[in-house]
Amino acid sequence: IVRVSDVHKSFGTFEVLKGISFDVRKGEVVCIIGPSGSGKSTLIRCINALVPVTSGTIRVAGIEVADPKLDKLALRRTVGMVFQQYNLFPHKTALANVMMAPLHVLGQNRAEVEVRARALLAKVRLAGKEDAYPGELSGGQQQRVAIARSLAMRPDVMLFDEVTAALDPETVKEVLVTIRELAEEGMTCLLVTHEMNFAREVADHVYFTDRGVIVEHGPPATLFSAAQDERTRRFLSQVL
Ligand code: ATP
Ligand code: MG
Repeated sequence: IVRVSDVHKSFGTFEVLKGISFDVRKGEVVCIIGPSGSGKSTLIRCINALVPVTSGTIRVAGIEVADPKLDKLALRRTVGMVFQQYNLFPHKTALANVMMAPLHVLGQNRAEVEVRARALLAKVRLAGKEDAYPGELSGGQQQRVAIARSLAMRPDVMLFDEVTAALDPETVKEVLVTIRELAEEGMTCLLVTHEMNFAREVADHVYFTDRGVIVEHGPPATLFSAAQDERTRRFLSQVL
């Protein structure tokens, strides 16, 4: 459902991505790991057309992301994204945050949007918090509102960029549980994460990136216990 082919990305003369290729199949959970600065966020942002690629192609559910005539709305409906910073609207309640895109971007019926938004908040275990403002919620709760907000567009693929990195250890778990449940329901998920236990338990496939290249990849059981490349082994020895 996602096909990244020989993607290069430079900022000025600095090449951040040096020929990245991989596929994510429908229903798969794929994790991208690697040291800081290896280009993980840039890659995720390329897939969501937040950053234009320098060369190469990206296809998501039949949409050519690098096409200059890209239909951004179609992409927004296809790809959900959650960042490290939750980016909720602070002056809107949890419910209003989740309702916003279907209501204002898609122009759907308010009553139906509200029913669905309430169901999504319940799904991320926030029933009862509909009327809370982001400032009244914990980081983990805010992040789950952000996940519900992305799901409101009924995406085919969810992208997560270090969504637990800014959270207290106690709240990391509740966010990971939510993502795991989504994965178990068959949502296609591509995650950049430092949560190696999560990657080990939930991912179908793990990619280790360093300085703009995929160094090696494989099922987590193989990658975590029998990494072939010295860089992978060094990284894993620091984070495991
Ligand atoms: P981290 O684990 O710290 O989040 P990362 O793997 O996500 O790192 P990126 O954020 O993709 O790394 O950044 C890769 C490199 O690209 C970094 O050296 C960064 O400084 C550079 N970079 C990212 N965005 C830009 C930009 N808009 N302009 C210039 N350089 C950028
Ligand atoms: Mg990053």
